[in-house]
Amino acid sequence: MSRSQSEPVASGSEPVLVVRGLKRAFGGVRAVDGVDLTIGAGEFVSIIGPNGSGKSTTVNLISGVLTPDSGEILLHGKRIRPGRPEAAAVAGIARTFQNGRVFGNMTVRENVDVGLHTTLRASRPLRALSALPLLRWIPLLAEFALALVPTPAVRAERREIAARIDTQLARFGERLTPRAENSAHTLSYANRRRTEIARALALEPHLLLLDEPAAGMNQTETAEIGRQLAELKAQGQTVLLVEHKMDLIHDLSDRVLVLDEGHVIAEGTPDEVLADPRVIEAYLGRSRAVRSPAAGSSVDARTAHDVQHSAADSAPGTSIDPAAAAGASGRTDALDATVAHSTGGTSVSARPIAVARTEGKVAADAGQ
Ligand code: ADP
Ligand code: MG
Repeated sequence: MSRSQSEPVASGSEPVLVVRGLKRAFGGVRAVDGVDLTIGAGEFVSIIGPNGSGKSTTVNLISGVLTPDSGEILLHGKRIRPGRPEAAAVAGIARTFQNGRVFGNMTVRENVDVGLHTTLRASRPLRALSALPLLRWIPLLAEFALALVPTPAVRAERREIAARIDTQLARFGERLTPRAENSAHTLSYANRRRTEIARALALEPHLLLLDEPAAGMNQTETAEIGRQLAELKAQGQTVLLVEHKMDLIHDLSDRVLVLDEGHVIAEGTPDEVLADPRVIEAYLGRSRAVRSPAAGSSVDARTAHDVQHSAADSAPGTSIDPAAAAGASGRTDALDATVAHSTGGTSVSARPIAVARTEGKVAADAGQ
C-alpha cells in the first residue's frame, strides 16, 4: 500500500485531530487496543471493520463519552480532557450516535438547539464561574435573568442561533424544514437521524464524528445522505465517518482505517484497503459456514453477535424482526462490497441468521 496516498491531506499544516495510543477495555475485552489516528484539515477519514472491532468505542473515546484507559487525544494540538463530552464539544468536536439520539418530546428545532448551549456567549455570562461549585449559582442566576429580560446582545444571539438552525435544517431539503416545529417522535427514522446530524453540524464543529449515519436507511435514503456528506466535504468539513456501507466509504473517503479487534490492521485509500487481504480476512475470517458457489453461492459470515449488534443499530429502542433488521443493517453491504472488490465482482451473498433476542438486549445496545 502506498503510504504517500494515504497520508493526511494537510500533512504540512497542523492536523485537526491526533490520537495516540488510545486504549479502552471492558472487563477482559480490549475494545480499542492502541489506536493511532491523525486527521488533517478538511480531510474525510473513514473507519470500517467487522462488528465489535472497536469503531464505536473509538468514536466514544474521541468525543469524551468514554474515558480511555490510556492514550491521548489532541484537537488542533491541544490535549482534550478525557471522558468529558462537554469539553470535547467546546473544543469543537461534534458527533452523532450509532443508535440515533433525539428527544422525542421536543421539536425538531429544539433538538438542534439543544446542542448549542455550549456556544452561547451573551445568553450565558460569567461562564467561567460554572466550574466553581460554590459560585455556580451566579452564572445560573444571570442566565435566568437574561432569559426573562433579554438584552439587545442576547436577542441578537438568539437570532443568530435561529438562523444557524434554519441553515442546518435546510441542508436536508424539504425533509426537516417543514417539520421544524413538529415533535421528534412524529418523525420517520431517517428524519430522526437527519435531525441528529443537523444538531451536530449546528455546532459548526472543527471535527464531525458520524457513527453509522446511514444504518437502517434504505438505498434511496443512503444515496441522499451520501450527497449531503459529499456537500459537507466540498465545504471543507473535517469528518471521521464510521460506516458499513461501502459505496459511501468508497465515494467519500480520502483515507480509510480498518479496525479489527481494537487494532488498526490497514490504512489507505478506499481502493487500497478494499483490496487488502488482511481486510478481506477480517470480514470473512470468522465465517461460521462457507458453502461453495456451486452449492448455492452463499457465504454466511455473520455471527449471532453480529446480528444482535446490527439489529439494534437499525431501529434503536424498538422491537425488531432480527432477520429483517440484519438484512437492513448494512453488514451485508460491507461484506458484499469487500468481497466484490476482492474478487473482481464475483457474486457472493451474505445470508442473515435469525437469532433470539430480547428488548433488554436492545436497550443495552442502545447505550453504546
Ligand atoms: P463496533 O462499533 O466496531 O461494532 P464497539 O466499539 O461497539 O464495536 O465494541 C467493541 C467491543 O467492545 C465489542 O466486543 C463490544 O461488545 C465491547 N463493548 C463496547 N461497549 C461496551 C460496553 N459499554 N460494555 C461492555 N463491552 C462493550
Ligand atoms: Mg458500532
